[in-house]
Amino acid sequence: MIEVPPDDESVTYVRLNGEDTPLAEAMPLIFLNPKLDHGKEKAMGEEGCLSIPDLRSEVRRSAGVKVEYQTLDGETRTIEADGLLARALQHEIDHLNGILFIDRLSAAAKLGVRRKLKRLMLEWEEDGLIPSKR
Ligand SMILES: [Zn+2]
Repeated sequence: MIEVPPDDESVTYVRLNGEDTPLAEAMPLIFLNPKLDHGKEKAMGEEGCLSIPDLRSEVRRSAGVKVEYQTLDGETRTIEADGLLARALQHEIDHLNGILFIDRLSAAAKLGVRRKLKRLMLEWEEDGLIPSKR
């Protein structure tokens, strides 16, 4: 499920089944079995994740995407969008495939968050959320 604030200015278009739709009308978006089509253009943008508290970093993603998905009623639909909505779709679809945004960081960006990430992983180890490497 995705909910981008309706006044978000990074989103310049939303098309549901090919029809221009106001962002507010498209939210919240519940999508099942998504199939992602990347646009050609790429964009950098800052991301964070509820699964990785307090860590934010720049991630390179497709600027615009098209996603075919099913609704809760089993209806097949498409959504096309750019900006934060395109980024959120890629982030969430990555989650479904077991990929976190930190897996998509450039080498430089990884260095920038390395210390924070190490500290988080130690905490997770102590809490038994991930296996201990010691
Ligand atoms: Zn996330």
